[in-house]
Amino acid sequence: MTKMRQGKLAGTSANHEIRFSNLIESADELIASPGTDEYLAPGFIDVQVNGFAGVDYNDPAASAEEIGRSLRVMFSTGVTRCFPTVITGPSEIMAGALRNMAKAKRSFESAGMAEGTAIEAFHVEGPHISPDDGPRGAHPKGSVRPPDIEEFKRWQEAADGLVRLVTVSPEWPQAPAYVEAVTRTGVVVSVGHTKATSEQIRAAVDAGATMSTHLGNGAHATLHKTNNYIWDQIAEERLSPSFILDGIHIPAPFFRSAVRAKGVAHSVLVTDAVMPAMCKPGYYQLGIEEVELKADNRVVLRNQDRLAGSSLRMDRGVGNAVRMGRISLLEALAMATVNPARVCRVAGRQRGLTPGEKADLVRFRWDEAANELTVVETIVAGSTVYSAE
Ligand SMILES: [Zn+2]
Repeated sequence: MTKMRQGKLAGTSANHEIRFSNLIESADELIASPGTDEYLAPGFIDVQVNGFAGVDYNDPAASAEEIGRSLRVMFSTGVTRCFPTVITGPSEIMAGALRNMAKAKRSFESAGMAEGTAIEAFHVEGPHISPDDGPRGAHPKGSVRPPDIEEFKRWQEAADGLVRLVTVSPEWPQAPAYVEAVTRTGVVVSVGHTKATSEQIRAAVDAGATMSTHLGNGAHATLHKTNNYIWDQIAEERLSPSFILDGIHIPAPFFRSAVRAKGVAHSVLVTDAVMPAMCKPGYYQLGIEEVELKADNRVVLRNQDRLAGSSLRMDRGVGNAVRMGRISLLEALAMATVNPARVCRVAGRQRGLTPGEKADLVRFRWDEAANELTVVETIVAGSTVYSAE
């Protein structure tokens, strides 16, 4: 059955009507129709989310009920598809977390629930990253290990083949062969949590790496001013970076500079949210590590000052992108929708609001003075999964 929604499209002042079933059927400008204050955009895609609303996706024992609840909270932030992200941990815990999330997806799908559709794929961040303090970030040092294609195969077996993004450090001698083997299977390889040299980064990119994970983070606190792995990644036009825009992880001038160098079309917003996102301050888990959500929204390792993911929500991330990047709403929306779809190969989501694309939509109000986006309705594959009304 065809449904329809009206709203403005960012970048135009005209009112549009989108007609859709599970796919978009048409997106026409309405000539003689009263305007609306509401906007329509493709639903947000978050390719790095470790947990949400009190649920840790790294916990192999997280229940499908709890995972489903966390996704419904995520829907209220405009996210329609996500890549639950499993970070560095003991091999059996990482595979267990992937197996558990894949099982939850299957159970949602067999019940006809949109929560199954919303789990688009998985991101495995680590354990093949830098063991060094700084680049390693909050990942547990004892579980860092060199790239191993056999372990990648075990993840895919556990995850029903749904691992689509892998973050790896090119500093390991095994990295080029690993990157080549992984990308040959159609999986996106991202450079991150690294202290790699220029040559090592180039070798990983030549082998097929196409992305930089949360550029500017997972790095030493101090670096050589002009010769370092951040500049190397900015200079490498074959790498599309993701950014955590909570206003804590990177300062606005860094974001602005990186986006100007890379171009908006190559830039991706992620939340890197962890279990306490949208919860009260206190202690929570991130895999095998205990983390604390502080009153100022920072998430740190317990009793340390080291950032351990974020409490960011994507609706705020989009607003922050406009403010921090001094970019348009249209550009910020692209960074949360078609750009991640292209960079991380989300089928049916790469062309925006055009006929034939999946009907993942977000309807929202936009406060231009405050750069604040308020979600009114979220639609996944044609079904309303959140409504503020
Ligand atoms: Zn990270």
